[in-house]
Amino acid sequence: MRIAALFAVVRGFFCVKPSVEGEGGNGRLRSKNETVEELLWRANAWFFDLDGSIHFGDAVAPGAREVVARLRAAGKRVAYVTNNSRHSAAEIAAKLRGLGLAAEAEDVVAATEGVGRYARERYGSLRVKAAGSDALRAALAAAGHEVVGIDDEACPEAVVVGLDRAFAYAKLARLVRDIKRGAKLIAANADRSHPGSGGASVPETGALVAAIEAAVGARAEFAGKPEPHLFRYALELGGWQAGNCVMVGDNYGTDIVGGKRAGMLTAWLSGLDESAVASSASSHPDADLIVRHLPDIHHLLGG
Ligand SMILES: [Mg+2]
Repeated sequence: MRIAALFAVVRGFFCVKPSVEGEGGNGRLRSKNETVEELLWRANAWFFDLDGSIHFGDAVAPGAREVVARLRAAGKRVAYVTNNSRHSAAEIAAKLRGLGLAAEAEDVVAATEGVGRYARERYGSLRVKAAGSDALRAALAAAGHEVVGIDDEACPEAVVVGLDRAFAYAKLARLVRDIKRGAKLIAANADRSHPGSGGASVPETGALVAAIEAAVGARAEFAGKPEPHLFRYALELGGWQAGNCVMVGDNYGTDIVGGKRAGMLTAWLSGLDESAVASSASSHPDADLIVRHLPDIHHLLGG
């Protein structure tokens, strides 16, 4: 009842999609008369995207601490699912703690570790060249791959691409040559940019991958959102059924489309104003809940 009352108070600020009844697959436990907000509250795990959702660069997002604290106090498991391919899960957890959010490395599913895990699952242990951070190379080695230097003359079995701030023409030429000689092209994520401070567009892994793809005339395979792998790894943290989990994120094409494909409930932090939220439901069918930002979810949860 409390949720219903609060829904009435804040209903102008978010949009709940029409209920889909009778879904029995993927563990969804929704009853005929259960509202989406009741199910969101009853879900046993909440997964949050990070940049643009929980924080903006180095600043914690309004409402993030409150939403996470409220969910944890209610016994919900909170984890973070991120296409970040430059930092390790431990580094990301340390950043979150610095922002005032309780987090350990095991609460973070990042593309940094995910891309090596995905490659290992699909192809076994590989000899790889990695374009990316030290953390990416360490994660690939920890996943059982042999990581060789960019200038290694022997052709690797795979080229793995993460966010590489030292990417340059010479490295591009090396990797293109290796792929043309038969190396697979495996990338952490397809994101071409992410929003930076002051409205800046920060180039991301996908922009580097696009350069390689253009030169070799072939497509990469991706480990990150919206592909299913990181969502699957998040579910495996607690053995949860996808239908009892909520994916929250700001990027509709990755967080929401990917979360829905994985069978999760989805909450889109749209950044839209109040009137646009109300009119966006039909054009964004994969979002079970559309809000402006995290404080709306906090209200929805009774905060
Ligand atoms: Mg985001």
